[in-house]
Amino acid sequence: MKAKIDFNINNLVRDNIKKLKPYQSAREELKNDNSIFLDANENPFPSGYNRYPDPLQRELKTEIGKQKGIAVDNIFLGNGSDEIIDLLIRAFCEPQRDSILINVPTYGMYEVCAAINNVDLKKIELNSNFQLDINKIFDCLHDIKMMIVCSPNNPTGNSFNKKDIITILQNFNGVFVIDEAYIEFSEEKSFLDELLNFPNLVILQTFSKARAMAGIRVGMGFADAEIIHILNKIKSPYNISLLNQKAALKALKTSNINLSKQAILRQKEVLINELQQLGLVLKIWPSDANFLLVEFINYKEVFYFLNKKNIIVRDRSNEPNCSCCLRITVGTSNENSMLIRSLRELEKLTLKNYEKDIIS
Ligand SMILES: *Cc1c(COP(=O)(O)O)cnc(C)c1O
Repeated sequence: MKAKIDFNINNLVRDNIKKLKPYQSAREELKNDNSIFLDANENPFPSGYNRYPDPLQRELKTEIGKQKGIAVDNIFLGNGSDEIIDLLIRAFCEPQRDSILINVPTYGMYEVCAAINNVDLKKIELNSNFQLDINKIFDCLHDIKMMIVCSPNNPTGNSFNKKDIITILQNFNGVFVIDEAYIEFSEEKSFLDELLNFPNLVILQTFSKARAMAGIRVGMGFADAEIIHILNKIKSPYNISLLNQKAALKALKTSNINLSKQAILRQKEVLINELQQLGLVLKIWPSDANFLLVEFINYKEVFYFLNKKNIIVRDRSNEPNCSCCLRITVGTSNENSMLIRSLRELEKLTLKNYEKDIIS
């Protein structure tokens, strides 16, 4: 599937960014490791970390590219995908003039990043199945600079219909961002295969979820080389520390993502099964991710009862179409058993109170 629209990404970039002469870091050019480095005011005595890291993270990107079948020129790395979202907005969205479109409920950082950058945000509610509302989206697509879609979506857990996303992509002349933070847990294929077909497409993935590396803050952006070039121009020079580059590289080379993924998916099935048997549970939304959106009869009571038991879940009840919903991350078998045990305990207590009410 190809883009129908003729693209020149540079027409979408903010003027000040287009004109920007980026900071030239001392380590921009790959130099021979045997060189004498007197250019960056570093301390010459080795500590393991006395040198600045590679600003373009070439070794790490090469390994990511190899594993995902993507050219290094199409990869950007950020201090978490959160940094990439912020940089994309700063590169393309003129404060107080451009607009970003999101589909709610979704990941909260999009709204926060737009607000920090003083960029207008339009929200369209997902339909009753938590799918994209194509008609409403098309109604406002013409004056949108950037659209961000999260699939599988947080907090609803579902993936959006691929056909819908492609239809929008083919008719949108702004920057289209797909956040695939949970893609590894999904049966659906990543949009990485479409990257070369759409010069305005940016795909975000992360080390934080299936890779079990949230602590190192490494997010990946995949896009046309022109977009990557723009992001490289505006990022802070050493945005991924040497420690984090090394940790990410080691994880890629040594850890098997499928093992923990399979374990989590198995636990998800167990959890769904157990939750379904509870009278407190009204609905478990279908999930393509490592969490469940669960509607409870008495979600507030559930939330505080779990809290007292030191089990922390996420209250999403204020989100559109999520009233009475808590978002529960799939934990270890042990953690999930504790959760279920606590819910059963609460259910018994609730039932007793109910009987008391009837008797009195
Ligand atoms: C968890 C999550 C991320 C990950 O962000 P990082 O900054 O890479 O840790 C990104 N997008 C969504 C929707 C998420 O839920």
